[in-house]
Amino acid sequence: VADLRPVAVRTLAGHLERLPGIGARTARALVEHLLTVDPERVRGLAAALAGLREAVRHCERCFSLSEEPLCPVCSDPSRDRSRLLVVEDPTTVWAVEATGEFRGEYHVLLGRLSPLHGVGPEDLTIEALLERVRGGGVEEIILATDPTVEGETTALYIARQLEGDQVAISRPALGIPVGGELAAVDRLTLAQALNLRRRM
Ligand SMILES: [Zn+2]
Repeated sequence: VADLRPVAVRTLAGHLERLPGIGARTARALVEHLLTVDPERVRGLAAALAGLREAVRHCERCFSLSEEPLCPVCSDPSRDRSRLLVVEDPTTVWAVEATGEFRGEYHVLLGRLSPLHGVGPEDLTIEALLERVRGGGVEEIILATDPTVEGETTALYIARQLEGDQVAISRPALGIPVGGELAAVDRLTLAQALNLRRRM
């Protein structure tokens, strides 16, 4: 069977298909849609895609995503520097910020420990976290890794690294379904989990 689709259509569909949550059918529908809308809108989308990776980088302090060397949280002098919320990825930072319940600062690990997938402590920002804590001023660490086996393992590993340090370590407790992702939890549940944290 000959594929009569123009190369440009096939190429774009191929790219879209590889994105999470988009199958061949959705990719086809998206390309068809883009072929019918105002070309200016398509150019806007293309420009946004092209500039994304250049515009966004990791915050030098907390490793969340930012357009500046320091993210908005790290450059806000009114944040409580004595409390650090440790999360797996930037999306969790955004989810927690949306609750408006946390006034401390963040530390993004950029993943979780996973021996099965070859992810060790050196692949995460754990060393930088320990340096931040040992730099002084941090009184409490909230280990808000996801409630999965790997998330728990990561939290335990970090807690063990901090055993000799004068810092309280806690973990969000109630309401978060095991196996879930913190960033996907609704605001109220997330806020509650942060408020009802338990000491480790
Ligand atoms: Zn930051």
